[in-house]
Amino acid sequence: MKKISLLGATGSIGWQTFDILLAHPEDFKLVAFSAGQNIEKSREMIEKLQPELVSMQTEEAAVALHKEYPQISFTYGAKGLVEVATHPDSTVLVNAVLGSVGLESTLAAIRMGKTIAIANKETLVTAGHLVMAEAKKYNAPILPVDSEHSALFQSMNGENPKTIERLILTASGGSFRDKTREELKNVTVKDALNHPNWSMGAKITIDSATMMNKGLEVIEAHVLFNMPYDNIDVLLHRESIIHSLVEYHDTSVIAQLGTPDMRVPIQYALSYPDRLPLQGGQRLNLAQIGQLHFKEVDFERFHALKLAYEAGRAGGTMLTAMNAANEAAVALFLQEKITFLQIEELIENVMNAHNNILLPDLETILHVDSETRKTVVGMVK
Ligand code: NDP
Ligand code: MG
Repeated sequence: MKKISLLGATGSIGWQTFDILLAHPEDFKLVAFSAGQNIEKSREMIEKLQPELVSMQTEEAAVALHKEYPQISFTYGAKGLVEVATHPDSTVLVNAVLGSVGLESTLAAIRMGKTIAIANKETLVTAGHLVMAEAKKYNAPILPVDSEHSALFQSMNGENPKTIERLILTASGGSFRDKTREELKNVTVKDALNHPNWSMGAKITIDSATMMNKGLEVIEAHVLFNMPYDNIDVLLHRESIIHSLVEYHDTSVIAQLGTPDMRVPIQYALSYPDRLPLQGGQRLNLAQIGQLHFKEVDFERFHALKLAYEAGRAGGTMLTAMNAANEAAVALFLQEKITFLQIEELIENVMNAHNNILLPDLETILHVDSETRKTVVGMVK
């Protein structure tokens, strides 16, 4: 029985994690979770899984829920995320919170030697060197939840890492994959939120449309698997059936395939090194699919991906600046305060003006993160 702390329980990944925990009560026990604003879903999770500790984003929500469930401990805010992540009874942290807000709680859980199942890619982008160094020091396994990274991880099982030639991340291309740059000028938030293959949270759906998501994933792959950027490629694959591939020295390529269902990589991170049956999982029928398509990426068309490679190669606080600029710009786009193409314009302006600091400590990262968010808002005003 693995005991779990879950951050971002009410989100897209968090709710699918809930589904897995409900399906496998003999394997997993939820001891603590955090939510943002969603009280309804928090209630449902409390009633079905009876955790010991719950953190809400605001104090009001925590106080209100505590009146309804006096037997459960409640906390809130940034300290609440850390308390959930470091709950003494859990051995696994599933981090499915959105954005770099997940960084400090991840580091705190690592320092307790917990296993980290990480969906929260922004944490790995903004502070990958700190997270991986602490994970090594405290012997805390970091297991990927992102489907591409889970596919890479599964395709490396039992292999000698020194024999890996190249990592190939597949990309569906997002909501606007068939549009030209000219056609992107007038797209709306509603259009952007309509992803062809995956149903996800709003921010990552926009990131998929700009392809910044793939850029964040290239950096995530560099961080998790210690692979140089020159050996990480992106391949357009519209069906999202091959979730990513690993090429070896001897030219062999090993990939992981399946119907698009995030519960597969979430559950694998929880059950690793074992596998569990997936309740209601749809089996892959290649004969029925018939054809799979692949295409090289055009970096002029997907400019944000190019920016992410540049930030990755620069390293240091350039990564924090790029990630924070993206988080801030996507939030502004979702509020309909900027256009779709302004997202990458703002990121590029931030990166051009940024004075890079290599190997930053946590304090520097947090400072650059908050300053960059203010800069982006200022640029729009
Ligand atoms: P969602 O927006 O659906 O969920 C985010 C979760 O975080 C919710 O529980 C939300 O609470 C909570 N939250 C948001 N802001 C805060 C905050 N400031 N403080 C505390 N809690 C907060 O996101 P996703 O599930 O889509 O994504 C989560 C992470 O997983 C991201 O890093 C994303 O890139 C990554 N990921 C997601 C995939 C997907 O399929 N969705 C695939 C691969 C990676 P509430 O809703 O209650 O307000
Ligand atoms: Mg992904």
